[in-house]
Amino acid sequence: MNIIKDIDIEGKRVFIRCDFNVPKDEFGNITDDRRIREALPTIRYCIDRDCKIVLASHYERPEPGKYEERFSLKPVAKRLHTLLKISKEIYMAEDVVGHDAKAKAEALEAGDILLLENLRFEAGETKNDETFAKALASFADVYINDAFGACHRKHASIHAITKFFDKSHKAAGFLLAKEVNFFSKMLEHPVRPFVAVVGGSKVSGKLQAMLKLLEKVDKIIVGGGMAFTFLKAMGYDTGNSLVEEELIDEADAIMRRAKELGVKFYLPVDVVCAAEFSENTTVKYLPVQEIPKGWMGLDIGPASIRLFREALNDAKTIIWNGPMGVYEMDRYAKGSLMMSNIVAQTHATTVVGGGDTADVVNRAGDIDEMTFVSTGGGASLKLLEGETLPGVAALEAE
Ligand code: AMP
Repeated sequence: MNIIKDIDIEGKRVFIRCDFNVPKDEFGNITDDRRIREALPTIRYCIDRDCKIVLASHYERPEPGKYEERFSLKPVAKRLHTLLKISKEIYMAEDVVGHDAKAKAEALEAGDILLLENLRFEAGETKNDETFAKALASFADVYINDAFGACHRKHASIHAITKFFDKSHKAAGFLLAKEVNFFSKMLEHPVRPFVAVVGGSKVSGKLQAMLKLLEKVDKIIVGGGMAFTFLKAMGYDTGNSLVEEELIDEADAIMRRAKELGVKFYLPVDVVCAAEFSENTTVKYLPVQEIPKGWMGLDIGPASIRLFREALNDAKTIIWNGPMGVYEMDRYAKGSLMMSNIVAQTHATTVVGGGDTADVVNRAGDIDEMTFVSTGGGASLKLLEGETLPGVAALEAE
């Protein structure tokens, strides 16, 4: 895969596909601008080489083909301007490939930046449509993909667009290269003991990644909603906790495989239980053997936290994907926040993947203590599954 510094971009028109899909609050304020900050090195590199820069990104899921103010990238243009610390204006297009975008792209001078509107305002984006991709490609001489968080999707600005650039005119930006290299290096040569911490709601979403990780790690710690499918497979009564009945056999097979491979497998030993999925209800701290009928486990309990801390004590590499409980509700957030503290305090190389997990680490104030926090949830999971991302493969194609 070419990286931006491997190709000649001096003075050229450059299209950079970014991932500016940042969280916003109900008033439209950006609450976490990490994805914008992570895009700065590539953008600055292009400014320094007098490029005419066209930036593009999707933002959330608007109805395809329809403009809606709340999905506009205008707040991103503003934040990007602040973060870049440049006096020049960042031009904002009113559309994606319409008259306004074309006119503004045409008028760009060396070092100028134009941000196109949300790519998903055009129905062709998610359909990987060639005509739309061609219209995007016509903005530039060089295509740079720096949108790690979107690289697992075959969308027009990630995939189809690459057909319009030969190998010397397309490359990965610094962020994409960093993410892909980090994961592959960690999985190929981890310093041991290597521990995976897996959580989140469902086994189904992480099954392939777990099977792959089993072959690589020394220990695996399972928390969150997915733990209950494993506990059920072990014969525990899990009450109304989240269980994927159809995956109980698979969960059992994973635990047997772990045993065969000598991988230590850890599950919660106690849980924070409630009779309903709500914060405003009575909660009980109980051993997993004692979940009452009709109650559900919504966070790991203090004994599990202590157990997981012990298991992580000697780790030299930790990969963490998925919260330990329903962290969105304060009452069930402690397990995830404590896990963040524990991971941050180890002497290990710590890698955090997944939007929710990054959010937990952020809330816990541990983001700067981690070695690497990935900007892509789905994409990082695909890398853990051992797959080449469609966006990366497209950059490598002739
Ligand atoms: P995922 O998208 O699979 O990584 O799952 C993240 C979601 O899992 C978060 O929104 C959590 O609220 C949810 N979650 C974590 N633990 C539990 C649990 N014990 N029961 C239900 N949902 C959970």
